[in-house]
Formats: sequence, structure tokens, C-alpha cells
Amino acid sequence: MGEFGDRRGGSGGGFRGGSGGGGRDFGPREMHKATCSDCGAECEVPFKPTEGKPVYCRECYRNRKPRF
Ligand SMILES: [Zn+2]
Repeated sequence: MGEFGDRRGGSGGGFRGGSGGGGRDFGPREMHKATCSDCGAECEVPFKPTEGKPVYCRECYRNRKPRF
């Protein structure tokens, strides 16, 4: 619990207004646009999509069974 001090010193910041659901955010996260390999919908992933690797939107990702 040391994140509170961060909100006080408001000296700009790179916050994007607009989309952003509620919940807790652990700071600004870089989102990368990608196309879902399953349904083909445009989506944003918090990681850099790797070329050659399939990217899934949240819904498809949840539908998929984790395989390790
Ligand atoms: Zn999808």
C-alpha cells in the first residue's frame, strides 16, 4: 500500500481519457492493438503481440483452455 502518494503529485501524466473500465489499475499499461486470431475482432492486449503467434481477444481467450 504505497501507491497513494503517487496520486497526489499531479504533474501531468500519460493518462488516456476514454476507455478504461473500473476496478483497480496498476498504473498506465501499454496496450497493443491486435486482431483476434479466432473471431477476427480488433482487440487490445497488454502485451506486444508476437508475430506468428495467435492473439485472442478477451472473450476468446477465456473460452480457450489454458494449455501448458
Ligand atoms: Zn476473439
